Amino acid sequence: MGELIKEEKEILERAVAKIKNKKIKDILFVQQSVLKAVDEFMYKRRITRVLPLMMSPITDTLNHSVEECELNYSNQKFNVMKSMIFHKQLTMLNPDIDSLYIVSPNIRLELATRGDSRHLFEFTQVDFEFKEATMEDVLKFIEEIITYIFEFVRENCIEELTRLEVGTDHLILTGPFKKYSTEELQEKYGDDFEAEASKAALEPFFLTNHKREFYDAEDLDNLGTYRNYDLIWPLGFGEGLSGGEREFTLDRILLRMRELATDENAFRYYIELAKQGEIFKTAGAGFGVERITRFITQQSEVSDVTLFCRKPGEKYIF
Ligand code: ASP
Ligand code: MG
Repeated sequence: MGELIKEEKEILERAVAKIKNKKIKDILFVQQSVLKAVDEFMYKRRITRVLPLMMSPITDTLNHSVEECELNYSNQKFNVMKSMIFHKQLTMLNPDIDSLYIVSPNIRLELATRGDSRHLFEFTQVDFEFKEATMEDVLKFIEEIITYIFEFVRENCIEELTRLEVGTDHLILTGPFKKYSTEELQEKYGDDFEAEASKAALEPFFLTNHKREFYDAEDLDNLGTYRNYDLIWPLGFGEGLSGGEREFTLDRILLRMRELATDENAFRYYIELAKQGEIFKTAGAGFGVERITRFITQQSEVSDVTLFCRKPGEKYIF
């Protein structure tokens, strides 16, 4: 084995400095508090906790391109889990389960161009889904759980937030979250509306109506618009949660798949279940744990809340 060259030594130094970051212990305690608050909140409501999977023959089709990563096991193809969206729907096959959540590690091999302050190619999300729920039900749920988390953090992380010099004012929520549609904000702010509106906002807000994955439901009373939503963190921190009502009938699923040129063969068993009426009307969402931690601790980069580099377009050694 040869000695490390200068450039390699620098990479190692940077990796070690990240682990030794003086702020990280406090940041991780805040993150731990977020997850404890989530568990408490879900537990009180008896929402079933399902453990995550890390690979599956089907996974989230996503709304943007990532590098694909197929694995072979026992002569079968698996993909790394991009999100548990289909497994959330499949869990609902159990007639006794009508609400669930998963603290779910996801891998999305983002292109190097996503080396911005918000993306990690490996991250964790709190993913939840409710049978028979509407968009309005889920928006209310999101408001309640975020309020619970912020209150929990304000009560339990005062020392940490003081040491991090960020205080708790940004965690005070004064009323129901505002709700805007993408068209509305686009008109006001132009093409970069999400980032601009996030910069202008002082409290989290909902952004509805995104044309994206086939499983997010189109509004049948208003075709061309969608009953889905994001939660946008204020102060420029950007998108932190995505979700929607789901398509669940065979004809709608096939129509949306065809619109988006989805590989129907890969989804043959899912489609068969839709044919049998076994994909149910549900709605849900998922929020990124590192992103909420970044917002609460007001870090400039999402990777500032991690110990190991998973920012797209960098060199990874551990
Ligand atoms: N979990 C999200 C949802 O429920 C999808 C995603 O992971 O972006 O729609
Ligand atoms: Mg999203």
